[in-house]
Amino acid sequence: MGTIGIRGLGKVYPGGTRALRDLDLEIADGEFMVFVGPSGCGKTTALRMIAGLETIEEGEISIGGTVVNRVEPRKRDVAMVFQNYALYPHMSVYDNIAFPLQCEGRRKQEIKERVEEAARLLGLDELLKRKPRALSGGQRQRVAMGRAIVRKPQAFLLDEPLSNLDAKLRMQMRAELSTVQRTLGVTTVYVTHDQVEAMTMGTRIAVMRDGLLQQEGTPELVYGR
Ligand code: ADP
Ligand code: ADP
Repeated sequence: MGTIGIRGLGKVYPGGTRALRDLDLEIADGEFMVFVGPSGCGKTTALRMIAGLETIEEGEISIGGTVVNRVEPRKRDVAMVFQNYALYPHMSVYDNIAFPLQCEGRRKQEIKERVEEAARLLGLDELLKRKPRALSGGQRQRVAMGRAIVRKPQAFLLDEPLSNLDAKLRMQMRAELSTVQRTLGVTTVYVTHDQVEAMTMGTRIAVMRDGLLQQEGTPELVYGR
């Protein structure tokens, strides 16, 4: 299933910056793992390496038991959501969410069922005909998540997805996202610099500093609550 194994992972960027050093982490199927730490500690680098967006020269990553070091991003069965969700402005919400399935050449009826299922889960049922410009920031972020989950990937990767939202909406979206993750049971890796976010959302937390894994455990263990 959607386990993620990270063994001895390191990263030195061209130019010589060391972003990661000897990272070891096993992420269980269905777990909500948060990478937390100050800016520049290597969180995004680790996530991008899982996604296949950075090459792996040191160590190994496996997804669902298969080593993916040399597997290209679109064959990794992961979906990534960024801070700046790039929706297609000329397409409706329905078509934005449907797009990955259309690319896979799925049948119309299957696409319709899966888009409607994702929309229901994210509370977008009433908005399927709208264009992105007619949506609020939170609604747009939900569409971006819909587009990510509609393929039912083995892993869901999120990089500071809520940081462009105002504080109130951010709190609401945290709760929603946790619910969606639990409902889907999809293995999730979530990057944030926000400790409160890490604590309220993660089932497990990896605290990073200067490219090193400093501490790892449940929120209770890491933050002593
Ligand atoms: P975080 O997500 O925790 O803010 P990053 O993984 O983005 O940290 O960055 C870790 C380190 O690697 C930082 O020193 C950053 O400046 C550097 N870095 C990130 N991306 C690149 C890149 N494409 N080229 C060179 N250095 C990079
Ligand atoms: P048909 O081929 O019978 O016309 P499709 O299901 O292929 O219908 O949908 C055609 C287009 O209609 C889609 O690309 C989408 O833009 C829109 N659409 C389909 N179902 C919905 C829905 N539940 N809500 C909003 N738009 C929809």
